Amino acid sequence: MGQRANFEETYSGQSLQGSYLGGVYYPDKTRVGWWKNGYPEYFAKVLNSVNWIGIRFSVDGIEIDLAKAKVLDFHRELNMKEGVLIRKYRLEIAPGKVFAAEVTRFISMKRKETGAIRYQFKLEGFSAPVEISPYLDFDVVNHDSNYDEKFWEGLGESAAPGKGLVSARTKKIDFAASAAMVCELQNQNGEALELNSTESSRDKYAESKLSLDAEADQNYTLYKYAAVCSSFHFAHEEMSDKAEYLAAEARDLGFDSLLAEQVEDWRQRWDKSDIIIQGDAEAQQGIRFNIFHLTQTYTGEDARLNIGPKGFTGEKYGGTTYWDTEAYCLPFYMASAGKEVARNLLIYRYNHLEKAIENAAKLGFTNGAALYPMVTMNGEECHNEWEITFEEIHRNGAIAYAIFNYIRYFGDEAYLAEYGLEVLIGIARFWAQRFNWSESKQQYVMLGVTGPNEYENNVNNNWYTNYLAKWCLEYAAEAHGLVAKMDAGRLAEIEAKAKFNAKEELSFWHKVSSNVFLPADEKLGIVLQQEGYLDKEQVMADDLAMSERPINQYWSWDRILRSCFIKQADVLQGFYFFEDHFSQQELKRNFDFYEPRTVHESSLSPCVHVVQAASLGMMDKAYEMYLRTSRLDLDDYNREVHEGLHITSMAGTWMSVVEGFGGMRVRDGKLYFNPALPEHWMGLSFKINFRDSVLQVNLSSEGHTIEKISGDAVDVIIHGEAVAL
Ligand code: BGC
Repeated sequence: MGQRANFEETYSGQSLQGSYLGGVYYPDKTRVGWWKNGYPEYFAKVLNSVNWIGIRFSVDGIEIDLAKAKVLDFHRELNMKEGVLIRKYRLEIAPGKVFAAEVTRFISMKRKETGAIRYQFKLEGFSAPVEISPYLDFDVVNHDSNYDEKFWEGLGESAAPGKGLVSARTKKIDFAASAAMVCELQNQNGEALELNSTESSRDKYAESKLSLDAEADQNYTLYKYAAVCSSFHFAHEEMSDKAEYLAAEARDLGFDSLLAEQVEDWRQRWDKSDIIIQGDAEAQQGIRFNIFHLTQTYTGEDARLNIGPKGFTGEKYGGTTYWDTEAYCLPFYMASAGKEVARNLLIYRYNHLEKAIENAAKLGFTNGAALYPMVTMNGEECHNEWEITFEEIHRNGAIAYAIFNYIRYFGDEAYLAEYGLEVLIGIARFWAQRFNWSESKQQYVMLGVTGPNEYENNVNNNWYTNYLAKWCLEYAAEAHGLVAKMDAGRLAEIEAKAKFNAKEELSFWHKVSSNVFLPADEKLGIVLQQEGYLDKEQVMADDLAMSERPINQYWSWDRILRSCFIKQADVLQGFYFFEDHFSQQELKRNFDFYEPRTVHESSLSPCVHVVQAASLGMMDKAYEMYLRTSRLDLDDYNREVHEGLHITSMAGTWMSVVEGFGGMRVRDGKLYFNPALPEHWMGLSFKINFRDSVLQVNLSSEGHTIEKISGDAVDVIIHGEAVAL
């Protein structure tokens, strides 16, 4: 589960109170201006769920509220090393009356349903009656609810001294969850105080109000242990017992032991994934902030879960899965979390293959062609914008590319026989049907698509999509051949299941893939983003007045569509994926042409440019782009961090560092490094999983060391020099 850094006590100012449970979503009724056949009925969204952190304070009859009282001090700290959020504040609640608090909170990485809060407080220089009301509140709304509907209905609630239990279920799909709390109050000697409690409960709500005559300058501590169990992981009938059990277990263990467990858990995770940048404290903090969030967003133990663009930090993008996972996130999880975690990201899509076939069939494709959704929770498309739902089909290619990328990285060809080939067949069938023969060009063309650059819609022959689709057809055929060699019996099973006519289909795939139209301009020596791209007025992004940027906030959609401006890597996304297919000159010419026309208005954009700029030796450009990605949320560049963090672009930042400045690539089972560090970086170190080994990589201008910490022999090539580890 994820919890925004909301305050425990009342806050009457503007705030997005958010707490989200993995896998628990709601199929909200969609809102579209003009309905089109083929649209899905709903837009799935991660559910804002029970507020388990809430603790109301009233001192001498005055409610503690940081939006109202005079704030004397305020300090909030995210301890990324230990996975703990700390807050300290002092409030003048009435003339001369200061309430001081120090709050420490975490969700346990080890006990996924459990959260713990230590709330220490003191009345400075005065004594007064204090009421402390820890509560559980399931009466929450999604801020992105399309019709201001509430998605939860109560299933029961109860309260006892220091305890509470609330259960609710969703109005559709029948997800349910139970939250339980157990609280303790201690004086400053750590002695438990008797709970003088008044309980109250109502639909979806339970609280236990504790009354205390607080003495001046004495420290008091409230511990609140909570557990939230959902039907995603537990049977309906056991959920509430389980939540009560886990909350009580947390109380029995106590805050300090839970915290020690948390610190140790994070120590192990950091040990696998940390990156050390010497000589640039801001870059160091930026990359650690990103690794911290990626690590807690996806732990890879359950192939039914995936990574939303905002993780569990907000509601925008609905917590759903996009192509971001395959195109941007996979490299981080492969290198930092290892094979099993990465594999689960792929299996997620394998499990959705049937739905992808149904999705393609709805759009008129046949014979087991699979079109994966642009946006999904359970395999069904849940995005309703025609240009994205129907046209942004390049996502299908990223899913095939991820299979290739994973196998290239881990050498796990058996994956093809187990899961990969079935997915590749579905995807290749789709592309073979989506291309059409052009009499006039005497080539296969693809019409009416949207590339990754969403500032163009309904274009013909988007180079990236055509190239990727052509590659998918070739790769699926190659995978078929590999499985035939590896395991003929399994191939027969797959062919029977997919009703695959190998002879006919493979020969058709070959016919199409060997004659795909790829737009290019010979004079400029570049490929063309799409047919007709050069007819647009050619203006550079630097020529745009700052007052007009981002253009998606200041320009009409029509003006954006007619302009040459590129939202995010499109052609260059292809050059990133298929770098090895092109010469350095081709890579450079295309980079020099497209980057200056790119406005980088998707957070996914700068990272892909860092990787390419660094490998082309354009270090200033690489660093300029790096700054835009590495501290995007910390420094709130786009002034939208209140909506949540850009989790998937954080994985892009990791790519920028390891593949960009570290120059790491995998070719033919070998690991290549061409490090090119920004001038002021004294050193860059990271640990990676590669194949069955773990390597420690230390790069610096003084020299490089790569140490094999465990596992089999690895061939490494640094700046062209081969070393066997
Ligand atoms: C980008 C897409 C991306 C989505 C979710 C959009 O702004 O253009 O490429 O998949 O955000 O991150």
